[in-house]
Amino acid sequence: MCIFCKIVNHEIPSSVVYEDDDVLAFLDISQVTKGHTLVIPKKHYANFMECDPEVMKHVMEVAQKLAKQIMDATHANGMNILSNVNEVAGQSVPHFHIHLIPRYREDDACV
Ligand code: 5GP
Ligand code: ZN
Repeated sequence: MCIFCKIVNHEIPSSVVYEDDDVLAFLDISQVTKGHTLVIPKKHYANFMECDPEVMKHVMEVAQKLAKQIMDATHANGMNILSNVNEVAGQSVPHFHIHLIPRYREDDACV
C-alpha cells in the first residue's frame, strides 16, 4: 500500500486540513513554504492522468476552496498549484496529489 493510502487509512499520522468521503488534504511533511498542503483523492490513482474525471472534479473543487482559505490564513502573496507526474518530473509518491504552495514575497523557495 502506498504512503498516501496509509495516511488515508490513518495508519500514518498527518496534519489534516480537510476531509470528506472522497478527498483528503493534509500538510506536506516537508513544508516548501508555510502552509504547503497536499490535496488527494482517497482512492488510489497513480497520477493526474490516471484519475477518474468525476473524482478529479471533486479534488479540484476542494483544492480551489482550500487555496482561497490558505491564502487568507497565511497572508501569502501568491501560490503555486501543481501536480508532478512520474519521477522524471519530480513525483516521489505514486498517488495523485495536488500541491498547494503558498508563496511569499521574501521566500526563496524553488518550485
Ligand atoms: P511529489 O514529490 O510526489 O510531487 O510530492 C510528494 C510530497 O509528499 C512531497 O512534497 C513530500 O514531502 C510529501 N510526503 C512524503 N511522505 C509524506 C508523509 O509521510 N507525510 C506527509 N504529510 N507528506 C509526505
Ligand atoms: Zn495510494
